[in-house]
Amino acid sequence: MGMNQHNAEFRFCPVCGGRLRSLTINDRPRPVCSACNFIYYQDPKVVACAILEMDNRIVLLRRGINPQKGKWVLPGGYVDRGEEVKAAAIREFKEECGLVTRIKRLLGVYSYPGQIPVVIIYIAQYVSGDLIAGDETLEAGWFSESEIPWDDIAFKSTVVALNDYYNSEK
Ligand SMILES: [Zn+2]
Repeated sequence: MGMNQHNAEFRFCPVCGGRLRSLTINDRPRPVCSACNFIYYQDPKVVACAILEMDNRIVLLRRGINPQKGKWVLPGGYVDRGEEVKAAAIREFKEECGLVTRIKRLLGVYSYPGQIPVVIIYIAQYVSGDLIAGDETLEAGWFSESEIPWDDIAFKSTVVALNDYYNSEK
């Protein structure tokens, strides 16, 4: 999940193909078409992740792609338009590390000023499957609280969510 990844800079209007220029609208710079005045509102991107708990351990994945290659994250990824967020968390979990999960409850929603992603993190239960490292993952593992590699976690939201998780009622 490329959580710090910026949207591609679009140069042309998706409606008429005219050139986009930056205009300030409602105190924010926005791309506006110089031909038809279409305003390109840039939406956040929604990321769904899950903390899978089993026998006092959780699953973390070591990223095989940039940004933050080599750092550990929760399994998760972008929600498709029209996709239920819980379904996205379950789908990404299966794709990234082979496990079928069931959502237990919401842990929290994590967003930061100036950052594109809105990260929604669930707590999940194991259903079936064997843990494997998928194509974009170097390594997949089960970690107890004392084994969490705190110095090598990717993304602020992951660190905050893990702290929330270990400080919450289970
Ligand atoms: Zn246009």
